[in-house]
Amino acid sequence: MKHAVESEAEAGLGIFEKTCVYCGARFRVLSTRAADPLQLQSQEYECPGCGKQYEIDAAAPPEVQLLRGRTDGKDDRYQETMF
Ligand SMILES: [Zn+2]
Repeated sequence: MKHAVESEAEAGLGIFEKTCVYCGARFRVLSTRAADPLQLQSQEYECPGCGKQYEIDAAAPPEVQLLRGRTDGKDDRYQETMF
C-alpha cells in the first residue's frame, strides 16, 4: 500500500498547492516530473506574494501561479534574516 506524502521534497508530484509560511499567499506549483530520478535536481521557486524562496526536487524550474494574495496585510519582501 502506497501512501501519498504531502511534501514538496517528494519527487514526481507534478502539481501541488502551497501556502506561504511567511505571508499567507496561496499558490500552485507546477513542477516537471522526471522519468529518471537522476534528472532531478534542487530547483528554487519564489512565493509570488513576498518572494520567499522555496526548494523542490524537479527536472526543471517549476512554474508558480498565484491563487490568492497574501493575507498578512503587508507588502514587504521576505528577507532571509533568521539565522
Ligand atoms: Zn510569501
